[in-house]
Amino acid sequence: MENLKEQIKMLVELQGIDTRIFKLDDDLAVIPETIKNKEAEFKAKDAGLKKLEDELKALQVKRKEKEGELAAKEGNIKKFQQQLNLVKTNKEYSALQEEIGRAKADNSIIEEDILKIFDEVDAENKRIAQEKEFLKSEEAKFAEEKKKLLGEEERIKAELQGIKAQRETLAAKIDKNILKKYDRIIKSKDGLAVVTIANEACQGCFRILPPQVTNEIKMNKDLVFCDNCARILYIEE
Ligand SMILES: [Zn+2]
Repeated sequence: MENLKEQIKMLVELQGIDTRIFKLDDDLAVIPETIKNKEAEFKAKDAGLKKLEDELKALQVKRKEKEGELAAKEGNIKKFQQQLNLVKTNKEYSALQEEIGRAKADNSIIEEDILKIFDEVDAENKRIAQEKEFLKSEEAKFAEEKKKLLGEEERIKAELQGIKAQRETLAAKIDKNILKKYDRIIKSKDGLAVVTIANEACQGCFRILPPQVTNEIKMNKDLVFCDNCARILYIEE
């Protein structure tokens, strides 16, 4: 083929464009995935915070219960003390005193429990405040990051549009049969259809090629393919 050298030059250029398109497509696919993962992470953290708040509510319910219990026992103590004035015998008197003593002992245990719950509520409040503060700053950071990612997405889309138009113009100049072969190879060979030879090795599969392959390429008679990986070979000028 007369203009084979020119055709191969265009193929090499086309390969450069296609490599860039593959890279941009990959970069573009990663962006929504990154955003989605981060948002799922925040959802999990929000659920964690909700759990802490539920724990706090449960503690407060428990505290109210204990306070109710304490008030009831104090009522009993008062009742017993009033009865003390009415009893007639020593036996009744000491029985009542014993009741009062027991109720007071019970109450000091309940009071200790209530103090413990207050401490737990304090600790829980602190933890919730810290978690909220942390989430707030993380979310602000992410909002900034998301803005950048969406900007990057727009930039990539614009570049892709330009580079695809460039590809179309170049592809229109290439011989249809050659282009068909190129397109078939690039689809089946991970986006790499045209490779050079370096240190006698195909730069697609790195197999050492016989010297006559280089000679064949230099003859510029027909496309030369790697025997091993079937990619189109060329020699850098
Ligand atoms: Zn090869």
